[in-house]
Amino acid sequence: MSDTAQTKQTTNQADTEQQVSNTVAHSAQEIDLSDVGQGETPEESLEEILLQELLQKTTELQQSTKKLSKLQHELSITRHIVACQDKGIIFINPSRKILYTNTVFCDMAGLDLRELQKETLDALIELRDTDQPLSSILQKTSGLEKWQGKILLKTDQANQTLYLLSIDYCKKNVKKSIPEGFVCQFSQVEEHAPSPSSIGSSALFTHDSLTGLPDRSSFQHHLALCVNQARLAGSRVGLLYIDLDNFKRINQMMGPACGDDVLCQVTQLLQQNANAEGINFIARLSSDEFAIILPPPSGPEQTAKLAERIISNFQLPLNVNSRDMFITPSIGITLFPEDGDNPSELLRNADAAMEIIKAKGGNNSCRWQNDIDDTAIENLHLENDLRHAVANHEIFNYYQPQIDLINGKIIGMEALARWEHPEHGFVSPEVFIPLAVNAGLIDELGIELVRQACEDGRQWMQLGFRNFVMAVNLSGRLLRRLDLFDHIIDCLESTGFPADHLEVEFTESVLIENIDNTIDLINKCREKGIKMAIDDFGTGYSSLSYLQRFAVDKIKIDRSFIMDVTTNPGDAAITMAIIAIAKKLHFEVLAEGVETEEQLFFLQDNQCDSCQGFLFSKPISGQRMKNLLMRDASVALKHRRILDKFYSIKAGND
Ligand code: C2E
Ligand code: MG
Ligand code: MG
Repeated sequence: MSDTAQTKQTTNQADTEQQVSNTVAHSAQEIDLSDVGQGETPEESLEEILLQELLQKTTELQQSTKKLSKLQHELSITRHIVACQDKGIIFINPSRKILYTNTVFCDMAGLDLRELQKETLDALIELRDTDQPLSSILQKTSGLEKWQGKILLKTDQANQTLYLLSIDYCKKNVKKSIPEGFVCQFSQVEEHAPSPSSIGSSALFTHDSLTGLPDRSSFQHHLALCVNQARLAGSRVGLLYIDLDNFKRINQMMGPACGDDVLCQVTQLLQQNANAEGINFIARLSSDEFAIILPPPSGPEQTAKLAERIISNFQLPLNVNSRDMFITPSIGITLFPEDGDNPSELLRNADAAMEIIKAKGGNNSCRWQNDIDDTAIENLHLENDLRHAVANHEIFNYYQPQIDLINGKIIGMEALARWEHPEHGFVSPEVFIPLAVNAGLIDELGIELVRQACEDGRQWMQLGFRNFVMAVNLSGRLLRRLDLFDHIIDCLESTGFPADHLEVEFTESVLIENIDNTIDLINKCREKGIKMAIDDFGTGYSSLSYLQRFAVDKIKIDRSFIMDVTTNPGDAAITMAIIAIAKKLHFEVLAEGVETEEQLFFLQDNQCDSCQGFLFSKPISGQRMKNLLMRDASVALKHRRILDKFYSIKAGND
């Protein structure tokens, strides 16, 4: 140790000793010397007294330390409890300066404790639903009146989460070292479970920008809230799931601006109807889907009444682009708890009920039932799968050859749609084509299948097979499209398939229902060289005189007449009559569904031009069709194939 350091230490020691001796002297002065025992020297008794005093002080110190550690323990428990709250908690002084916050509030505000301690409460919150400034709210609260109100956090601009703020006044407590101030607690509004009926139209929700209605996520929130309330109260919640019929077509045909106009007018209509029933929660779930929640206590009569009111008010036209437009809704209804135990089940079942009513033609409502028609549900699932299949181009053409009844050659083929479902195997086009029509998928699908047929046809032509027509089926729905002709031309041009090798088939009922469009389309197609055929002839209700009006090339006699043509004189007579009329009007005539040689001979004897049917081939895949075509010797020779090898290719039936 250095001299200086040693001197310093000695001095410090001396100072301390001096202090102790002063203290002792001071204590001695305070002590009552009359108590000093007899026979003891004054020095001895003073020492005794000082010792006792020291002991007492030590005990007091020990007690204080114990008390302090107990307080510290309590404080840390309190801190832990505050930190564990799911509410944000802050303490502010009367000048609204933040003195303390828990971590939950730090997270809510996105600031840490230090940053928050620089702020006043005014700088952090925006009061909603009140005009009072924070200062006067605090003043009132100081009068021991608790205050509650909704606020937004200014630091949470993006989320705009609404919080419920509760303010409690805290009186100064000197004993407990508590300063005067306010305890402020923040909780998310929904967690605070306000009455569902009171919040339908408020600014609590995120909104759809077009209609201004609460959006899907707000809807889910509100439905959950209502279901919770109903569960507690043992009451019911009603849900209406509303979808507009044919809205897609309006959008496609009249443009998205008109579609938007329709949606806004529908919103108003729904609001008026719901308000008239005292309901104020309507949401837009997606494009043309809306939902109305009937908060607890609700019931089947109230939901049915609202659905009926909406449907009847939709009977009046909307005014779109200064024109009257009729829109109809399909409404699915569910009630908690009978039709779904939780919000997502309620919504799913309401959606399914809506789809069922839509499949029956729409413009009606339907309550979900557990024992709802199984086939309807199956169709719903199938429709869903079909959407995926169409989007993923999983539907393709099979081809059925058409045979010339004089020389037995293949003169064409009919493209028939096939869908191989991953679980159900091949689904019949008689099932999925109507589904595609209902689901609004047929436009996309129908045109895609025409394109596929043109593409396959072009490839077969390149192989040398040239004398054939490719027949495609077009649904009535597709026929209503004004741009159908353009699409057909686009299919031809994009694939390079010649127009005069394409034949378009319509059923006669479809022709009659769309007479103006059809005549127009037929004329345009004929100008381009595209051929026209009437499918399933004899089953529709066309009068024979119509035949003259349609400049078609071919009539296809429906399979139902051919089936018993050799055993049923009536069917034989009809078949012969159709052939005779076709000949007189210079149409070609083809018989569908030829399965037996007897049927074939009958048709040959009666001068039918051509046929198709299982006798020759079922519809087969494009690859097999190609193989079948290659069996034509003239094609094979062009390709200089060895005939033996060529004939070994077996087309077979799929
Ligand atoms: P369709 O246009 O009258 O087609 C003929 C139907 O008869 C085909 O049924 C074919 O497989 C079947 N068929 C042919 N020969 C025989 C036979 O000898 N015996 C029996 N029992 N049946 C035979 P598929 O392929 O099931 O098609 C049924 C219907 O679905 C078609 O009747 C057509 O109306 C519709 N369809 C098929 N593909 C399409 C398409 O791409 N678009 C549209 N819009 N409709 C299609
Ligand atoms: Mg057909
Ligand atoms: Mg047919």
